[in-house]
Amino acid sequence: MNTIEATTEIVNKNWLNVDGRPVLIAGPCSVETEEQMIETATRLKATGKVDMLRGGIWKPRTRPGMFEGVGAKGLPWMQKAREITGLPITIEVAKASHVELALEFGVDVLWIGARTTVNPFSVQEIADALRGVDIPVLVKNPINPDLALWLGGIERLQKAGLTKLGGIHRGFSNASEKIFRNRPQWQLAIDFKTALPELPLINDPSHICGRRDLLASVAQKATDLNFDGLMIESHITPDEAWSDAKQQITPEVLADLINGLILRTSNVEGIAKTQLDQLRKDIDLMDDELIHLLSSRMKVAREIGQYKKDNNITILQSNRWKEILAKFVEKGSNNKLSEDFVTRVINAIHDESISQQEDVLNK
Ligand code: PEP
Ligand code: MN
Repeated sequence: MNTIEATTEIVNKNWLNVDGRPVLIAGPCSVETEEQMIETATRLKATGKVDMLRGGIWKPRTRPGMFEGVGAKGLPWMQKAREITGLPITIEVAKASHVELALEFGVDVLWIGARTTVNPFSVQEIADALRGVDIPVLVKNPINPDLALWLGGIERLQKAGLTKLGGIHRGFSNASEKIFRNRPQWQLAIDFKTALPELPLINDPSHICGRRDLLASVAQKATDLNFDGLMIESHITPDEAWSDAKQQITPEVLADLINGLILRTSNVEGIAKTQLDQLRKDIDLMDDELIHLLSSRMKVAREIGQYKKDNNITILQSNRWKEILAKFVEKGSNNKLSEDFVTRVINAIHDESISQQEDVLNK
């Protein structure tokens, strides 16, 4: 548990409230053309599921030469999307000049990106540019799992007089992660919520997953953990998107995803009645995590297989296996798991590892 406390007294509650159900913010990773923005917005509105439109105007890209956003000329397109749909608009700001333009064009909500939250100079510059303007701002978690840095970003804005704030959990960069683009750290997000209980906390499955097939399960997990909303990237032709093509989905696919989410009741009586459902959901979440872990472990096993192949080493290293087995049994007994059970589990995992390695060696 964290012991970090943040100042909460100047928080304006409920600025993002939509009748107790999770808010949905959707739109393209990047605003590309006027037609693309308008068509995306119109089709998102038609789903009846979306509460706010997002669009990236300035894009922080990993390498120069990649598409860095259309810039200020996209702001009138966002305004037009708002006019047509009646939905508020939100964009990412990373420096004072972005803030000035966003305010000039009447953008409703701003967000600070993960690459900006890591830099206190940048967050302070944004806070200073916003002094005296109580516009809502969502702060994405920094790229690295540092709760204090995330809370610090919120505090800089609070100190500049902003009261309508919130967080976005978009996952954390992790060199050993094999499945997610940015590994979700649910406990850290819960710690954010514990430190700032009055602030809405949104989940961004798109940047966590980096791929379409995982979006629904992450969105469900966020819903089960009582996040206040979701931010999901949506594009009319996802494969042709100028940025983050692999993780974007069409407005219609997004609607299906949202329709498929099981919403937990916030009604106390209902919760008591569905205690069994909740326990089953907990089990399902843990099973998902088990599968994720097993799959990550097998990916590492395959990498080891590749190493063995390159260096002409046998697959089975008896000493190493004895060591793993003994450690596993010991840890199991420390955690109230029978020797018989942990032995069967680790044997099954080991068998699968070997067959995955054989697969690599015989390729
Ligand atoms: C984005 O929302 O398009 C974006 C750049 O996200 P992040 O800051 O989470 O990487
Ligand atoms: Mn993106």
